[in-house]
Amino acid sequence: AREAYSAARPRSAAIHARAREVMPGGNTRTVLFYTPFPTAMVRGEGARVWDADGRDYVDFCGEYTAGLFGHSEHRILDAVKAAMDHGVNLAAVGENEGKLAALICARFPSVEQVRFTNSGTEANIMALAGARGFTGRTEVLAFRGGYHGGVFTFPVGVPTSPVNLPIPMRFADYNDAEGAARAIREAGDALAAVIVEPMQGSAGCIPATREFLIALREACTETGAVLVFDEVMTSRHGFGGLQQRMGVTPDMTTFGKYMAGGMSFGAFGGRRDIMAMFDGHRAGAMPHAGTFNNNVLSMAAGCVALGEIFDEAAAEALFARGEALKASVNAACARHGVAVHFTGTGSMLSPHFRPGPVTAPYKASVAEEQMRELFFFDMLAAGIYLARRGMVALMLPVTDADCARFVAAVEEFCAARKPVLA
Ligand code: PMP
Repeated sequence: AREAYSAARPRSAAIHARAREVMPGGNTRTVLFYTPFPTAMVRGEGARVWDADGRDYVDFCGEYTAGLFGHSEHRILDAVKAAMDHGVNLAAVGENEGKLAALICARFPSVEQVRFTNSGTEANIMALAGARGFTGRTEVLAFRGGYHGGVFTFPVGVPTSPVNLPIPMRFADYNDAEGAARAIREAGDALAAVIVEPMQGSAGCIPATREFLIALREACTETGAVLVFDEVMTSRHGFGGLQQRMGVTPDMTTFGKYMAGGMSFGAFGGRRDIMAMFDGHRAGAMPHAGTFNNNVLSMAAGCVALGEIFDEAAAEALFARGEALKASVNAACARHGVAVHFTGTGSMLSPHFRPGPVTAPYKASVAEEQMRELFFFDMLAAGIYLARRGMVALMLPVTDADCARFVAAVEEFCAARKPVLA
């Protein structure tokens, strides 16, 4: 499979070889790295992408959820072009940032005030800084398998974080309501914040149970720790995010990905009393700087993305399409009697090469890693572009026919690879 992959992609190979001279590994995003070399994409339109060697794919990766609107969405393009026509580096506040903030606060009742960043990673850094300032405490509790950005990654089986964090961390097991509540109470008034994805994304689209989120809510209320929902990926799951669907209200929420129509974006927001830590009208306000925090392209695109395109009906339709896809792809796997199934919520799903149900993150075995790799390369050969780990994030322009093609490709994979899948 690898030889066929390489032989079909001489231009991608050359792009990689050149970049490798001047960039370690030849790339700049861990998630896009794989051997022998990653496929280089040169164009996208709607739900299609084209690689450097002229092959086209249906894009089921959806830029890891940031590509919600599809490629070259004309209303977003128009907004960005109009903004560019007026100059982009004005070193000043503009009208759109307040407008975008109002759109976010209106959608998420738990978000009374919000501020912008360049990325989801920064949003989490600032939310935790705010929580620490507000509580006067230092420690943060996160969950094994959690991913909150490049510096906040906590793979299962790794004791802390692969990156040195300047924050004293504690860890608990995802979806273990009792254990998490106990850990929060044990930490007591040392604990500034609990940060959690209401569905773990990078760990394999593992939804939280409502019971688990409620246990976190209750323990945080009791101890005074700030409950932060990282909805960087999951806010797409409803007009008011996954928090609305789950009926659990955090103190703070972080955002990112699709919200600026595909431009660089991050935001953190929540209770007015916590966000007041950053209010420059107050003496001793916490700093929150960043040259591109309010960059005019993101602000303009975000106003159109949230204000005109991704409304309640669009959010519900996307959620329903994802649920339908999950049902039909799982039925296809079941028809072949193989231990492959997909988990997830709404428009995000991930394959697991083991029998279900999967309710907590796990360290994949070598065999599982190999099947994941085989799946990725088989899907590429079938004209389906996915995240390397197999995650699907549907985009608005993905059609029922695209979904049917995906299910057929998975079915073909199950049939062809049955001997190794068991
Ligand atoms: N939190 C979650 C849940 C994420 O999935 C990601 C990105 N995959 C981030 C935070 C970080 O966002 P960014 O890549 O924009 O820094």
